[in-house]
Amino acid sequence: MRELIDSILDVLENICYYLKAMKKEIHPTYHKAKVTCSCGNSFEVGSTVNEINVEICSACHPFFTGKEKLVDTAGRVDKFRARQKAAQKFKEAKAKKAEDK
Ligand SMILES: [Zn+2]
Repeated sequence: MRELIDSILDVLENICYYLKAMKKEIHPTYHKAKVTCSCGNSFEVGSTVNEINVEICSACHPFFTGKEKLVDTAGRVDKFRARQKAAQKFKEAKAKKAEDK
């Protein structure tokens, strides 16, 4: 019990040290922020901003839901497929050119 009290006192001492060491008026205020996900879920976290908007959260991410879901908000997958197609065409054209020679 004595050891526990001593360790708690040590922690409190450290906290006091850091609070004293903190410079004034350079730290942003830390308050509760509402996080809103595009899936409709919302929760609170500690932050220096009031509101946070996210595209994916633990309620809708495939890792947590176990369901497959295509996460493509900026059309990156489509862009990649288009590039893949173009590369395939380029390869075929090159092979044809080599055949003609
Ligand atoms: Zn979500």
